Amino acid sequence: MFQLSTLLPGPHLPTKTLRLLQNYRLRRAISQAYRDVPYYQKLFNSNKIRPEDIRTIDDLPRIPITRKEDLVCLDPIQRTARGTNLEGCIMHMTSGSSGTPFRIWLSDDDNRLRSLALLRTMQWHGFRITDKVLCIRDMRGLYVSKKYWFQSAGILDREYIDLFEKRETILQRLYNSHFDILSGYTSELSVLASEILKQRKKALRPKLLYTGAEFLDAKRREIIREAFGIDPIDLYSTIETGIIAWQCAKRSGYHIDADLMAVEVVRDNQPCPIGEEGELVVTNFFSKITPVIRYSLGDVATISDKHCSCGCNFPMLKGIAGRLVDCILLPSGKRLSPYTLTCSIEDIHGLRSYQITQTSRHEIIINYVSSTSIATEVSSQIISRLENLLGKGVSVKTNRVEEISKKKGKFKVVKSLIA
Ligand SMILES: [Zn+2]
Repeated sequence: MFQLSTLLPGPHLPTKTLRLLQNYRLRRAISQAYRDVPYYQKLFNSNKIRPEDIRTIDDLPRIPITRKEDLVCLDPIQRTARGTNLEGCIMHMTSGSSGTPFRIWLSDDDNRLRSLALLRTMQWHGFRITDKVLCIRDMRGLYVSKKYWFQSAGILDREYIDLFEKRETILQRLYNSHFDILSGYTSELSVLASEILKQRKKALRPKLLYTGAEFLDAKRREIIREAFGIDPIDLYSTIETGIIAWQCAKRSGYHIDADLMAVEVVRDNQPCPIGEEGELVVTNFFSKITPVIRYSLGDVATISDKHCSCGCNFPMLKGIAGRLVDCILLPSGKRLSPYTLTCSIEDIHGLRSYQITQTSRHEIIINYVSSTSIATEVSSQIISRLENLLGKGVSVKTNRVEEISKKKGKFKVVKSLIA
């Protein structure tokens, strides 16, 4: 079982040692995925690849890239490790920024490793165990246990605010809670920041502020910095992989958690030259139940050859594009985080893919993909859930389409034509 003490040396490892560790962990992950998961066994066999052919990170381009669309139509038994009791695992829905609802399962060990990786990142940014963390997030699927005695004593204390709470309630709780570190979805934090500035409230000035789940552009960064009184630190993570990379405190780019996964930036399946944009592909060394081998997230990134002065030896991404979303403007003038919309509909049975477009303050159109046999049912579920969320004065319309076209790095699952 992983302990924080085993992860802490990672960022200090010399490049050569890190590469040896990566290659060792890669071989183990590949052989487990081939042995235990029917999808990968079939993928390897049909491309005449033997697990022992993949010895190092440099061999990865031999394996075809897997995309969410390749997995989403499969029975979970095909893409999870044989013999796993999925009911004993925690099921997570993807956060919806890709517009393709997708379920993955994580064991207690997976969740533990993810929490430790986050703790290591925060520790690198100056986190102390007595700092209290406040997270604004989608609470579904999140098991929040009663506080341990040490949390009540102020050690590793954590509090959650549900994203679906009313904006006024969230603001009130932010101002009433005594926290040191704040984390949340980029869009939600930027909407809260606008509200704080509009109401001329005083800046909350947490010690650290983390944004994630979507691209943090310069405009949102500025609004958040002004309202909260601190420059946000962006975390690049996905439900499928956990944290992939995190912005350095020096703002020189994103450090990749390279002891936990291999990250490639490719074009036509071959490594992109340093400094050039390409498709981001991830191989996770530790996802045993739902392995992630050469998985494309549909995002675009640039590899950097910079050695960061912060002391972390992990390789860096210069920039990450993609995961763009717009907020929704209601007739009352209030803005709604796009995640409240995507979270409301992503578990609708038979909904394969979708894109939400706001055409005016009074109209939302959802293009969706589903099989024809259940299209009417899917459509009425989307309409009823979104009408319920958006309230009176907003008309919700649906269109069944054969495919949602996604331009890499540019796709917006929630798009506003009036933003
Ligand atoms: Zn750094």
